[in-house]
Order: sequence, then structure tokens, then C-alpha cells
Amino acid sequence: MGILTSKATGIRRAKVVLLGAPAVGKTSLIARYVHSVFSERHKSTLGVKVDRKSVHVDDETLAMLIWDMHGEAEGLEVPSSYFSGAMAGLVVFDRTRPETVAVARSLGERLVAASPDAQLFYAANKSDLDCDEAGMRAELKGLEAHATSAKSGDGVHDLFTTVARALL
Ligand code: GDP
Ligand code: MG
Repeated sequence: MGILTSKATGIRRAKVVLLGAPAVGKTSLIARYVHSVFSERHKSTLGVKVDRKSVHVDDETLAMLIWDMHGEAEGLEVPSSYFSGAMAGLVVFDRTRPETVAVARSLGERLVAASPDAQLFYAANKSDLDCDEAGMRAELKGLEAHATSAKSGDGVHDLFTTVARALL
């Protein structure tokens, strides 16, 4: 599939999927980026939701179709169909819960196996909260991640812009 260009408008579109263990902040990152809001409530809905956001970088426009998964199909249970045609994976873990790093890593591997062209971007979310820095470093084993906070907004815009720039 890859990046699709609309014949009518010339606008390019790319599927971007959010991946990660339940409650790491996937839905919150999208809400912050697309709608500029944050909620303390964790809503676990069933199914898949797609948000669309157009990004302008360096005189080019990319329409990102941002896929979020919910409820039972979340975390390691995510069905393979969710990955298909994705150009980028935003792989999220919760920096206050080191065990969510292994889930993120394994989902990233599954995405690349299903969509070999997909680029991975790791997000260490909840940067507004304290965490066990040493424990986190040990878990990351050198994996590089963008620090984000869906709550404060820190790093969120930069992360999605990095994704868009890499795709264009
Ligand atoms: P998802 O299951 O990965 O989609 O996670 P949600 O977006 O539903 O978030 C799970 C919980 O974490 C909710 O209570 C959110 O309010 C909270 N949360 C998400 N992102 C952040 C963040 O950056 N900082 C803090 N403090 N809480 C967050
Ligand atoms: Mg969610």
C-alpha cells in the first residue's frame, strides 16, 4: 500500500498506527495532538478508531490517518490486520511502568514483520510523572524513545512532526 496520493487533490496520505500496552496513553496522545485536549479518564472502547490530521512540513502536506485501537484488541492481542499498510508505528510505553517496554518492543517487531516498510518511533509517555530512572534505563537497553506527556503536551507535537517529516 504505502503512501497514497489523491489524484484529485495531490495530497498524500499515510496510515500511522499507535501501538502499546493498555493504558500507556495511546488515545491520550492522539487526543492531545489532534484535538488539544487531555482527560484523566481511561476510556476503553471496543474496536478501532481512525483520526485524520493534515501536517504541513517544508511546503509539503501529509494527511496522516492515525489508527488507535481499543479494549480487547489492545496490547499483545492486537490483530494482524491492524498493521497492514501502515507506514509508521508510534510505539508507546509508560515510563512509570517498565514492564510496558517489553510489550512495546514486541509490538514494534510485529509491525515490521507485517509491514516491512513501516518506520518505528518509540514514545516514553507520562514524562510529567516521576519514574525509576535506573530501572527504566535497564529495561530500555539502549532503545531510543521520544519523551512525551499527553497531559502537559510536552514533546507530542514534535513527535508527530518527526513522523510526518520521515514519511514525506
Ligand atoms: P491507552 O489505553 O494507551 O489509550 O491509554 P489512555 O490514553 O486511555 O490513558 C490511560 C490513562 O493514563 C488515562 O487515565 C490518562 O489520563 C493517563 N495518561 C495518559 N497520558 C498521560 C500522561 O502523559 N501523563 C499522565 N500523568 N497521565 C497520562
Ligand atoms: Mg486507548
